[in-house]
Amino acid sequence: MASFTPDQIIPTHGSNIIGGCRVVGQGPALTVLRPSDAKPFADLDTASADQVDRAVEDAARAFKQSDWARVEPRQRMKVLRRWADLIEADMDVLAPLEAVGSTRTIAEARAWDVWYTAETIRFFAEFADKVGGDVAATSHDKLGLTITEPYGVIAAIAPWNLPLVMAGWKVAPALAAGNAVVLKPSEMTPFSVVRLAELAIEAGLPPGLFNIVQGDGRQVGDPLCRHPLVSKVTFTGSTRTGIAIMQACAETGPKPVTLELGGKSPQLVFADASDLDKTAGIVARAITLNAGQVCVAGSRLLVQEQVADRVISAIRDRFQALRPGPTWEAGTSLSPIISHPQADRIDGIVSRTKAAGAEVLTGGGRASGPQDGAFYQPTLLVGVTREHEAVREEIFGPVLTVQTFREEEEAFALANDSGFGLAAGVHTGDVSRALRALRALEAGTVWVNRYGRSNDFILPTGGFKKSGIGKDLGREAYEANLKSKTMLIEF
Ligand code: NAD
Repeated sequence: MASFTPDQIIPTHGSNIIGGCRVVGQGPALTVLRPSDAKPFADLDTASADQVDRAVEDAARAFKQSDWARVEPRQRMKVLRRWADLIEADMDVLAPLEAVGSTRTIAEARAWDVWYTAETIRFFAEFADKVGGDVAATSHDKLGLTITEPYGVIAAIAPWNLPLVMAGWKVAPALAAGNAVVLKPSEMTPFSVVRLAELAIEAGLPPGLFNIVQGDGRQVGDPLCRHPLVSKVTFTGSTRTGIAIMQACAETGPKPVTLELGGKSPQLVFADASDLDKTAGIVARAITLNAGQVCVAGSRLLVQEQVADRVISAIRDRFQALRPGPTWEAGTSLSPIISHPQADRIDGIVSRTKAAGAEVLTGGGRASGPQDGAFYQPTLLVGVTREHEAVREEIFGPVLTVQTFREEEEAFALANDSGFGLAAGVHTGDVSRALRALRALEAGTVWVNRYGRSNDFILPTGGFKKSGIGKDLGREAYEANLKSKTMLIEF
């Protein structure tokens, strides 16, 4: 995982993909900063209102006029597989591009993001000729059946925290199911997905099926969702924006929406966990990976009283061992925060929680990175209660609150005491307790004796409560890109 020189990476001008071509946006330019050192990376040419319209119209035309939705599904599968192969072969370009423009370190981008994006595409490609309709049980003088059809144009709106991976989650199932897509990446991490789209075109994806429009939410995201030719919206981002998008879809449709939103996920450690030191490592990683800027970050530790001191001290050691650094250095183990305002927001929540009586065991302030980027120290907050802001709000930084419990029931109640319901981790050596947790916890995903995903695009992911509606990944995400039509035939 060699380090690299960031100034060698220069994204090409013309960051919108419309009708299969790179197009220079006619909207206002936005300066994009490199998170690691807050230096300007490039000026982003954003799409004008006309260009957003054109991207959607081109997508609608490609959906109607290309054979993408009508060919043998295996033909789509072949193109998508070729795309995945090209992505993997492009590692030396894509990984540094992702690392320099986002919070992902070069080690992570090389070992995971690029490979995982390619595998996600392969996974969804496989469904193309395996998911169809159904035949109903009817009387013998009839035939009742359902067939599946793609929606048409799907708008995909993505966040900044894992730019390639999030694009893969949205675009791969939509295309595999026969739709056309218009993707709006985050204005903070806009460049690596342009390369992704170019590789799709090189793989043989008909022009117009995968478009990218660049810009912020107000100027580009909102009109894209409201466009009359957009039939469905799939969004990943904050709960606040998800609500605004749902409203836009209600006012201009109603259109179906998939919303993958924020979280405040608990990690429950019981005294009977088989290896407490290993468990502490899992807990620490679950909140420091990508500096906590992960939707499923395990941000609330709930630990059984008798092992609390031991677990907390092992987590503190791990927090203190992390080395902040620029994403392009191979030895960096703590990512930058995406921006200085976001680091200020994290610090504000920590300071107010401290002022309200919490104790900071380690961290609690900005980390001095070797560059001018925004870094935040991995922070352990003890002595917190359900009322504290750090326990209630999604922080999206490396901040772990600690609450202790005596009995299992109390642990489950604390875990569920949140408006969010994205994920939860349970560490126990007792199989029955793990299964009780699975039933009791209000979370879209429950991990037992592990935390987070590795290659589990095979399983659906999505949240309950304020964490969202619908699923990404797994068969459910593929099916969410299809609508079903019912037929009843009288003989
Ligand atoms: P954000 O909501 O600020 O922005 C997400 C995207 O929405 C961006 O592309 C933005 O430009 C766009 N946008 C903003 N306003 C819009 C509007 N009115 N209409 C249309 N688009 C609009 O989120 P973020 O800060 O980029 O990402 C962090 C958030 O994403 C966190 O809350 C995190 O938990 C969440 N997230 C969730 C998952 C999941 O699977 N549940 C995965 C990753 C991130």
